[in-house]
Amino acid sequence: MRKIPVASPVFAGNEKKYVEDCMERAWISFGDYNRKFEKAFAEFCGTRFAVSCSNGTAALHLALLALGVGPGDEVIVPTLTYVSTANAVSYCGATPVFVDSEPLTGNMDAEKICAKITSKTTAILPVHLYGHPCDMDAIKSIADAHGLFVLEDAAEAHGAEYKGQKVGSMGDISAFSFFANKIIAGGEGGMVVTDNEGLATKARQLMGVGQSFHKRYWFPVIGYNYRMSNIHAAIGLAQLEQVETILEKREQLAEWYNLFLGNIPQLTLPIEKDYAKSVNWMYNVILADSLPERDTVMELMAEEGIETRPFFYPLHTMPPYKSKEGFPVAEDLARRGISLPTHVGLEKKDVDRICSALIRTFY
Ligand SMILES: *Cc1c(COP(=O)(O)O)cnc(C)c1O
Repeated sequence: MRKIPVASPVFAGNEKKYVEDCMERAWISFGDYNRKFEKAFAEFCGTRFAVSCSNGTAALHLALLALGVGPGDEVIVPTLTYVSTANAVSYCGATPVFVDSEPLTGNMDAEKICAKITSKTTAILPVHLYGHPCDMDAIKSIADAHGLFVLEDAAEAHGAEYKGQKVGSMGDISAFSFFANKIIAGGEGGMVVTDNEGLATKARQLMGVGQSFHKRYWFPVIGYNYRMSNIHAAIGLAQLEQVETILEKREQLAEWYNLFLGNIPQLTLPIEKDYAKSVNWMYNVILADSLPERDTVMELMAEEGIETRPFFYPLHTMPPYKSKEGFPVAEDLARRGISLPTHVGLEKKDVDRICSALIRTFY
């Protein structure tokens, strides 16, 4: 029986051609594909600037540094997210301050942000979790009222929209990832996008080891080697050329899942808020307490050749960020949530097989 991975990139366009082009011209480090990918990605997001970098974690780090976040500062982040969201804050010497999730999307609950703002808070860092956009108007009005920056972590949400506007274009600055399991895959890679030229320039300089733009081998600031290679940019650009078909396929996948699972009352299926166009990075189901435990369900599905993944473990439960404070909504979602295989290589019969296997674990 064919194994079904939880995520897998599909290279159906110019990926191979562009990579071979890099090889033939012996231009494998930062080069013309970076510039093309940056330009096309900024256009896609509807922002003026895009700075390519080595991965999504680096993109978050660069964005925070460009905003001037440093030691003593606090940055508001969701507890239910990938660890990089908080780690990037820690790299700056600042402190991530956690906020609980809203129940339906798992996104940071805007209503719980104000209680976390102190005189040290400098930025709010919402994550468009699993491809569903956050309530950006609510977040931005809180940020405006308190004079805070907004940095969007859009690593899981390429192409998602809030009230018709693309994620990544609403905050002061935003970060994307092109890891192999993301919506646009490059192998490794990240992008910082912004409309603010000053922020873009700062991010670009720090990405390129701090080198002066006017004098090679002259380093006015301490930067990082966070360059994306020309090869990774070549793959990313080829993927971006296919983004509309990729997003359509993901919408189709969600429809198939909804069709096969819609009449099972013990499952809570993903929702799309009125304001949102979600891109279904992961199709998630939340198991009712009457069902077998989540990890048991995952093991039984693995025996049938179907890989799944648990929800993120809330960051306040991890050793570096251990907190006595409770975050009941995030903890509850994390305990009962499963991400089912979601990638463009899946066909309707695969989704049928996945759903049948899931339902069999209940009996
Ligand atoms: C994947 C991811 C990142 C980090 O991206 P990498 O390219 O793996 O460094 C950051 N934030 C979120 C929410 C992610 O899902």
